[in-house]
Amino acid sequence: MTETLEDLRKRIDKIDLELLELLNKRGEIVEEIGKIKEAQGTNHYDPVREQELLEVVKKNNQGPFSTPALQHLFKQIFKASLDLQKVETKKVLLVSREKQSEDTIVDVRGEKIGDGQTHFVMGPCSVESYEQVREVALAMKEQGLKLLRGGAFKPRTSPYDFQGLGVEGLKILRRVADELDMAVVSEITHPGNIEVALDYVDIIQIGARNMQNFELLKAAGQVERPVWLKRGLSATIEEFIYAAEYIVSNGNDQLILCERGIRTYEKATRNTLDISSVPILKKETHLPVAVDVTHSTGRRDLLLPAAKAAIAIGADVVMAEVHPDPATALSDSAQQMDIPQFKSFMEGVQPLLRMNQQAAVK
Ligand code: PEP
Ligand code: MN
Repeated sequence: MTETLEDLRKRIDKIDLELLELLNKRGEIVEEIGKIKEAQGTNHYDPVREQELLEVVKKNNQGPFSTPALQHLFKQIFKASLDLQKVETKKVLLVSREKQSEDTIVDVRGEKIGDGQTHFVMGPCSVESYEQVREVALAMKEQGLKLLRGGAFKPRTSPYDFQGLGVEGLKILRRVADELDMAVVSEITHPGNIEVALDYVDIIQIGARNMQNFELLKAAGQVERPVWLKRGLSATIEEFIYAAEYIVSNGNDQLILCERGIRTYEKATRNTLDISSVPILKKETHLPVAVDVTHSTGRRDLLLPAAKAAIAIGADVVMAEVHPDPATALSDSAQQMDIPQFKSFMEGVQPLLRMNQQAAVK
């Protein structure tokens, strides 16, 4: 007697249930394997193993399904199993909001970065002389600003460009900062210079070109000094967060993330300021987030609008470069502000700062 459609469907339903049960049984074993691999530190994905499985399908297939069709299905099963292992072993990053819900506050000589107010990091691109740094620092002091930046070790695209004054530059920054009760932010480019930097800087900057210099990240993670980590030239937000994790997982949780623009096809600006990275980083991590309006835009006329956008979108710090005479600057002369421009920049951001303060009171 031939079976009715209903009978056949009932048999199919039964087989589907068996398949479901078998797949989940398989999944449970996959999870066990994942744990062993995790303990051994071996890679989850094993292409040889996948190939073997596909061979088994080929050898034993008696139809009616074609071997490629079944291999496709088994590849999906293999992929789903791999995902299962990843979910099992996915680590919660130390920098993540999931790990710590409250904001990290980095205290730098009394400036509490991450406290909900806007802070400013200003100063020349490169340290050129004591007089140059002091002139900028005095103008900052007049505005009530404390965080003085300046490049002593300059990672330049061309080896023929000014490379910075090195330790001499750090000494100048320290001297001026001590005279005016300010704090020093300066870039360190080599793990071997972290120790010497401790004598002079209050915040160690790791520049965009070194965001994935893992030895430098580890070295900065091993000292008790706040770190200012800049996003890499073409780094994704995920890569940026992992770079931050290198520092925190080495023991240093005093970290500030700095969006400085990324490389895109757009030529109107030096880089493209990825403004949406600010709320993303604030949401995904508990770290303070800064926006460098100078290197992202590369245009003096865009510094103020970009800073306003940064404050409005929730940045904790705005960074920009100021030089007493940008035309003669040894680096980044096109985009640094002179002192009168810096003053009007600070006036220009006041309405946004007031808005922030009002929001904090409410
Ligand atoms: C800097 O801030 O001095 C600098 C060189 O910027 P970046 O590393 O973002 O290019
Ligand atoms: Mn610069």
